[in-house]
Amino acid sequence: MIRNVLSIAGSDPSGGAGIQADIKAISANGAFAMAAVTALTAQNTQGVSGVHLVPPAFVGQQITSIFDDIRVDAIKIGMIGNAEIADAVATALGPHLDIPAVLDPVMIAKGGATLLADSAITIMRDTLLPLAHVLTPNLPEAAHLLGVAAATSRQEMIEQATTLLALGPRAILLKGGHLDGDISPDLLITKSDQHWFDAPRIPTKNTHGTGCTLSAALAAQIAKGMSLPEAVATAKAYVADAIATADQLSVGHGHGPTHH
Ligand code: PLP
Repeated sequence: MIRNVLSIAGSDPSGGAGIQADIKAISANGAFAMAAVTALTAQNTQGVSGVHLVPPAFVGQQITSIFDDIRVDAIKIGMIGNAEIADAVATALGPHLDIPAVLDPVMIAKGGATLLADSAITIMRDTLLPLAHVLTPNLPEAAHLLGVAAATSRQEMIEQATTLLALGPRAILLKGGHLDGDISPDLLITKSDQHWFDAPRIPTKNTHGTGCTLSAALAAQIAKGMSLPEAVATAKAYVADAIATADQLSVGHGHGPTHH
């Protein structure tokens, strides 16, 4: 049976990130993709020029209408936008906490645009983190959630992931791509287990939407019943291939999308 994955995220009309990336990644990872939209953005590979948030009640209505009819096997939560939408998502997901949810705490686009109001970070921490089965921050996002400086070593990554775990998610996948060096180390940590996933850094400027793609692929693999370490390894291999072949695309003049 094909598994159903719901993405709750923002739209990137240029196709590299957000729900567009999620739908591609979920489909390519063998699941059926659905998407409840939290925000429209106007953007291209050179940056985000506008954000139009969906009214919170309507975000909730989209999610509820899916659950009223359709079996959901896993959820991916991406761009949330503001505190009211975070609240609406938490309320709509309240009756469905048994369904595995991957939370990608999207905050700032690579070009610097704000995708989550500063005032919403506390509410995301208090309402959405406890719902997450897996939280997938990069180093700056982990630092923002904790109100500390970004980790600069594996030891600090372990410390910050452990602190995030205490805020409620069942697992943390802390992505170390912002560390210096030829290796990009990701850390998966649960209450009982710890795995490092080291990958060689791939030289390309076309990495737009990698975070969205990873979290969506991970949700699809979890929906298919893989163990968490296997699901992370499979999702990371999918993203690595998307980055490695990104330069085959000719999409825009800035930080282009990955190829998937
Ligand atoms: N736009 C949307 C709607 C997103 O959800 C995201 C990231 O999650 C981005 C843009 C930013 O993508 P990136 O920082 O990879 O360029």
